[in-house]
Amino acid sequence: DQTHFGFKQVATEQKVSMVADVFHSVAAKYDVMNDLMSMGIHRLWKRFTIDCSGVRTGHTILDLAGGTGDLAAKFSKLVGPSGKVILADINNAMLKVGRDKLRNKGIVGNLEYVQANAEMLPFPDNTFDIITIAFGLRNVTDKDKALASMYRVLKPGGRLLVLEFSKPQNELLTKAYDMYSFHLLPKMGQLVANDSESYQYLAESIRMHPDQETLKSMMESAGFEQTSYHNLTGGIVAMHRGFKF
Ligand code: SAM
Repeated sequence: DQTHFGFKQVATEQKVSMVADVFHSVAAKYDVMNDLMSMGIHRLWKRFTIDCSGVRTGHTILDLAGGTGDLAAKFSKLVGPSGKVILADINNAMLKVGRDKLRNKGIVGNLEYVQANAEMLPFPDNTFDIITIAFGLRNVTDKDKALASMYRVLKPGGRLLVLEFSKPQNELLTKAYDMYSFHLLPKMGQLVANDSESYQYLAESIRMHPDQETLKSMMESAGFEQTSYHNLTGGIVAMHRGFKF
């Protein structure tokens, strides 16, 4: 009952371990694949997220499902020595690649690495000024539980930014994108990372992820206010934002 296209039918524990396997197997090649698959555009999507974050010197920030630390690295510079950034990820291998990369770049001091599941964040209530989750929420099994957990650890006045694949806004783009992700992407994964299945999982997980309006109402159900989203690259990606008051 465990088909490539059947992630929905797979039991929860199985899904958790499959996600773990996927990210264990792609960790080493993750950054190069990101650049290749998005033709470098993921950097612009991340830049936009930082620009919408309202980050200030001294802020405490959680980069959840932070993986190899692109956002955490930028935040670490922006919050300065009086601020703090926590890079949290469920997966050891991704955290290790991230930690090694940032240390090699000399980004140290105000950064901490925590292995954590987004559904059960191991932090006190009202801890963070900003929480980001970039290309992470679609991998989380119980998204409502994860959003509630993020809401709990966010400070009143704080904001959540969710950067995630979403629903392309016109038909032509949808067709081109389907071709790309179902045909080309697994081939690229095979060539570069010797792993087509993980990249097939990626394409499938994108299709199953809630669209713009659905995610917005999920955020509202978790308690977030003044929620909004901004489509990027024609809605291939969307950046959702919500506040806790
Ligand atoms: N945020 C990084 C970026 O934008 O480059 C990494 C994104 S990567 C596609 C997704 C990450 O989500 C992986 O590192 C994976 O281990 C992590 N992840 C998956 N499920 C998670 C969960 N339940 N809690 C925390 N992290 C999770």
